[in-house]
Amino acid sequence: MVRHKLDSVNECARRGYNLRFTCDGCGHVVEANSSELMIELNARRVSLTLSTIEEKARCSECGHRGAAVVPCDINF
Ligand SMILES: [Zn+2]
Repeated sequence: MVRHKLDSVNECARRGYNLRFTCDGCGHVVEANSSELMIELNARRVSLTLSTIEEKARCSECGHRGAAVVPCDINF
């Protein structure tokens, strides 16, 4: 697989990748639709860079703030 330089949500959305969040606290994994995430972040005026999202992401399982965010293929 060719690794593109994907460092922002809109870039992932444009190339058709989802985003996979892995909680730093408990390892809980969530996949998010990058297009929907982009719209939500734009509405909240949050930066779309992955590094910013990694700091702001909050785990739905343990409430830990901070996650690893990587682009992933969309599996249907
Ligand atoms: Zn967690």
